Amino acid sequence: MKKNLVSIVRYEKPLESVRKAVDLCNGLSHLPSKARVFIKPNIVWWTTEAVFPKWGVITTSRVMEDMVVILKEHGIDDIVIGEGMVIEPKDKDTPAHAFESLGYNVLKKRYGIKCYNIHERPFKKVDIGSGYELKFNTDIYESDFLVNIPVLKTHAQAVVSLGIKNIKGLIDIESRKKCHSTDPKMNLHQYISKFLKQVPPSFTIIDGLFTNEFGPSFNGNLRRSNILIASDDVLSADMVGARILGHEPSQVPHLVHVAQDYNRAIDLSDVEIAGEEIQNVINFHGFAHPYDKDKKMFKALSDRGVEGLTLTDVDLSLCTYCAGLYSRLIVSLFVSWQGKSWGDVELITGKVQQPAPGKKKTILFGKCIYEAHKNNPDIQEMIPVKGCPASLESIRNAFTQAGIELSPILENLPAMLGFFMSRYRDKPEFNDSFYTIQE
Ligand code: SF4
Repeated sequence: MKKNLVSIVRYEKPLESVRKAVDLCNGLSHLPSKARVFIKPNIVWWTTEAVFPKWGVITTSRVMEDMVVILKEHGIDDIVIGEGMVIEPKDKDTPAHAFESLGYNVLKKRYGIKCYNIHERPFKKVDIGSGYELKFNTDIYESDFLVNIPVLKTHAQAVVSLGIKNIKGLIDIESRKKCHSTDPKMNLHQYISKFLKQVPPSFTIIDGLFTNEFGPSFNGNLRRSNILIASDDVLSADMVGARILGHEPSQVPHLVHVAQDYNRAIDLSDVEIAGEEIQNVINFHGFAHPYDKDKKMFKALSDRGVEGLTLTDVDLSLCTYCAGLYSRLIVSLFVSWQGKSWGDVELITGKVQQPAPGKKKTILFGKCIYEAHKNNPDIQEMIPVKGCPASLESIRNAFTQAGIELSPILENLPAMLGFFMSRYRDKPEFNDSFYTIQE
């Protein structure tokens, strides 16, 4: 049986470690000469307002520059870095700020690469199979080769977010919402599994200098892990990445779907490892923030003592924009708790959650859940938070109506980011120098 080679390398030094990861798996052996190369980092989110934890959230600029140097050594001159981060699509300043801060403009000057915010680039509608369509960035179809540089992280909905999931950053916002469908034949996992057919031959290097438990964003537990995983076969790289994060590939639905589509084994039996032994680097990362045993409240909130509010475990139908606001709300609830029960309030969100009969007040968080339940007779007092996604003002008003006064941290993004940054204060291993490139 043909084995797919995956390298596992402990990160030690600039350039040398990435070079070792590439060489051990012959990762660029299929790179055509004079190829047009598209590099896809993972820049989930960005803000110009304050410093925020990037460790385990965003691809390090260290690995980005090292890969550009290695591509240049292979004679590659036509290199595009492209990313479509989770921002308002018309917001051009935030991606520009991200690219500047991450040192991509230095890469532009030093190596002649191009850098695209894909929300400013054209998209085209593509049939991904069985009549389902998504809009993909067109630059990827004009490239001969993809260098995929995700972060080694778990993901609350997708279990892991590695090479295949990283391709989601190349579809437009409406397509991203569509992926959180309630269609039983095409849920989030199935949509993710179809991304792979849209990209050219690729090399994947999973950046695990920092890793993220309860990813994909900065509200996870961020760790310094110093691992690189590389392969010219993205499914193999992802399966190894999943196992290193403590999850069998067979427990990651989108990997199972891809393995089925390509007639591949899901148990790593067709994968050969070069470099570190896999069992020596396994480090369990949970994928979803724990809930209490009834699945009605985040454990962090129940541990804090919160009473009188239920928040049902989020499901696949909650899409990225509502999920971002939801995370912001959770921090605000944590800070707002004063030790007195909030009564008998529930919040439901996404597209499929059901109100619990008998609850006194039901907050419907997001347009989708509002549309699903606006005529539901089981709801005693309906408090809608409309919008797709909702505004912070409408969230505050809804909670005020429910008798819960939210802390001003809800609107104060720098304070919220400071709340997360404080977890890493005085920990020298969390070093921002990996996210800059010296001129
Ligand atoms: S309301 Fe929320 S879950 Fe529904 S499509 Fe909009 S952002 Fe997604």
